[in-house]
Amino acid sequence: MRWSKTYIPTLREVPAEAELISHKFLMRAGYIRRLAAGVYIYLPLMQRVLENISTIVREEMNASGAIEILMPVLHPAELWQKSGRWDTYGKELMRLKDRHQHDIALGGTHEEVVTDLVAGELKSYRQMPLNLYQIQTKFRDEIRPRFGLMRGREFIMKDAYTFDVDEEAHKVAYQKMVDAYYKIFDRCGLPSKKVESDTGAMGGKAAHEFMILVDTDGGENWVLACDTCDYAANVEKATFRELNTPDQEGEQKPIESIDTPGATTIEEITAFLKLPPHRFAKSLIYKADGKPVVAMIRGDRQINEIKLKNHFDCMDLEMAEADLVEKVTSAPVGFAGPIGLDIPIVVDPEVAALTNFVTGGNKVDTHMLNVNIKRDFTPQAIVDIKNAPAGEGCPKCQGLLTESKGIEVGNTFMLGTKYSEALAGKFLNSEGKEKPYIMGSYGIGITRTAQAAIEKGHDEKGIIWPKAVAPYQIIISPLNMTKDKQRETAENIYNELTEAGYEVLYDDRSERAGVKLNDADLIGIPLRIAIGDKSLAKGQVELKLRREKEFEAVDIGQILVKTEEFLIRAI
Ligand code: ATP
Ligand code: MG
Repeated sequence: MRWSKTYIPTLREVPAEAELISHKFLMRAGYIRRLAAGVYIYLPLMQRVLENISTIVREEMNASGAIEILMPVLHPAELWQKSGRWDTYGKELMRLKDRHQHDIALGGTHEEVVTDLVAGELKSYRQMPLNLYQIQTKFRDEIRPRFGLMRGREFIMKDAYTFDVDEEAHKVAYQKMVDAYYKIFDRCGLPSKKVESDTGAMGGKAAHEFMILVDTDGGENWVLACDTCDYAANVEKATFRELNTPDQEGEQKPIESIDTPGATTIEEITAFLKLPPHRFAKSLIYKADGKPVVAMIRGDRQINEIKLKNHFDCMDLEMAEADLVEKVTSAPVGFAGPIGLDIPIVVDPEVAALTNFVTGGNKVDTHMLNVNIKRDFTPQAIVDIKNAPAGEGCPKCQGLLTESKGIEVGNTFMLGTKYSEALAGKFLNSEGKEKPYIMGSYGIGITRTAQAAIEKGHDEKGIIWPKAVAPYQIIISPLNMTKDKQRETAENIYNELTEAGYEVLYDDRSERAGVKLNDADLIGIPLRIAIGDKSLAKGQVELKLRREKEFEAVDIGQILVKTEEFLIRAI
């Protein structure tokens, strides 16, 4: 492709709305343009990247035995009502009314549609296993669309759905998808990590996420992984083995109220009382579907809102606003405690294990000393509601947990019978008994994976694509188009490499050399062939990999052999 014949509108200025480096480069290098919040146009270079990723996904899905279909974006509301998700999916489900005032959902995921499709037709155990997938645009009214393609309101996803006769067969199908996912991300040049995750709004039994680990701001998820065994989990789900159980006081002492003027944070109160943070129990007031509740964790721990939300089995969980805290505790924020409250109190097991701990006093400038669970207040439940911190023990072995940031590019869900039961998805098993299908669902964010590749591969000058996803493998940059010799050489090499089957971008613009070399770096093509007078005088051109610093002058006659050599070396 000739640069002059395609559309690559590079920008000099960094657009203000772009926070992430990958988002900035996608805009600057002319890959995408924003149409509305979380809605983007994919320009020619982007379209090629998305095609490359989709091709890899397709090949591996087909190789695993999955069958490609294409389902509609418009979903009749009835299907979502049957599964219950018309209500539980919340505001993320985009909805509209047709001219007859019928409710329609814009597909953000297709469990309902695919189950409805096979129900009634997939009637016998002989027709299974079945795995149907599609690559399609999805719609979700994300509460905070951001980071470019990372969290859009319209994005491209591969979604697959498996139907099996029993749990055993389902496990086989699930493992096939896991194996395919590892291959897909490896082939994209993006080694992935499989981590345990929360099942969230999808429901079902268990789930895993595939993460690309990054050390940039693009990593929206914290991953806890064992340094010894293969345990790894999203922080939403991770548990741990406490290594150093803090000292305990044996005997329960009489409860005491103590003046703590102005001490509202754990730092202030620990300094004031000269006690370590693990002797405190934080009482956090939340609203679970609008109703106030208290969550208690040790002062040295962080609350895990996903675990808390799962405990209450509610649709919305949010921190109570100051007014509500005052109403519930009769004190300003910072002095909440469990004693005397008549709302549900959930206590983390680490708090339940403490003797004589400190809590807020539900009175301004007041805390309580020597609080003891059961004697002084009665919790509704004792459940794990805290984050696992790095440095603590692995829950599965004697190893230690380490923490890293990751971008979730795919996930796999064991759905059980949630959708087959709701949507009459039944078959006759080998004994002639009617059973619901055991289902699985498996997503890969095609657009998010593309951006994750940039978050992982870039330098200050621009994108560094892995060769498998790059829009072109090679860019030819003659430095001065007014020189006949340079232009002719460029044309010849362009023809030769294109005929040899390479995807080549020929920068035939009459821009200054500096602009062309900068643009080549910015758009991130793995191999650059620069053509300038100096090397040309020796019958040579300059080959340079985007990820390497040095170029090599190569005889023009050697171009094919050398190109192959360079591209094998590229990641
Ligand atoms: P997240 O936790 O990031 O919101 P999710 O659990 O909602 O993701 P799924 O519903 O399982 O994700 O979707 C499958 C895949 O689609 C995700 O792994 C991710 O790669 C991609 N994806 C999900 N939501 C978005 C979005 N708003 N924009 C771009 N890609 C997305
Ligand atoms: Mg989501």
